[in-house]
Amino acid sequence: MPDNNQPHRPTPLIESRVCIDDDFGPFDAKLDPTDRLGYLNPFFSLETVRELAVLTQRMFIQYGRDGETIHVIPILHVVDSRTDREEEPRPVVIHIRWPHLDEDVASAVSIIQPNDDGLYRIGDGLWAWAFVTWSCPCSSDTPWHVTRCQNCGALRHEAASADTADDRPLGDPGSH
Ligand SMILES: [Zn+2]
Repeated sequence: MPDNNQPHRPTPLIESRVCIDDDFGPFDAKLDPTDRLGYLNPFFSLETVRELAVLTQRMFIQYGRDGETIHVIPILHVVDSRTDREEEPRPVVIHIRWPHLDEDVASAVSIIQPNDDGLYRIGDGLWAWAFVTWSCPCSSDTPWHVTRCQNCGALRHEAASADTADDRPLGDPGSH
């Protein structure tokens, strides 16, 4: 029996916040925490993808073309040539891997299709996504979606006021 006859077994996604190092994120995301080969595989709303895209382009300008960028291209009128019918206006999310452009154009540019819930998986499983953590006054760090400190039992909504780093607005250069 071909594999595509296997019943689709959707995994419930949890809501959390993810980032890459300290300067890329935090972003709200949905994900299956078990779906990982080292790094997490988060899905994002289109709104979050727009924020994330701006940040990739800003970093690209800053660090040069040895990087990857995400672009949200508004397509206003799409006509299906087979039916001649106009589809719903929709944006197209594009991922460019700049180091590949000179060698293998086919792998340098791809379109990211949304899943059934309209969420976009960004990073190919290769971006170093990790959970944002919240800091408890007891000085232990806990993944964002785990709302109770595993060390002392404090609740995130009570303890998180002590944590300002995760609530920095995007683009805040921070202070060094
Ligand atoms: Zn604690």
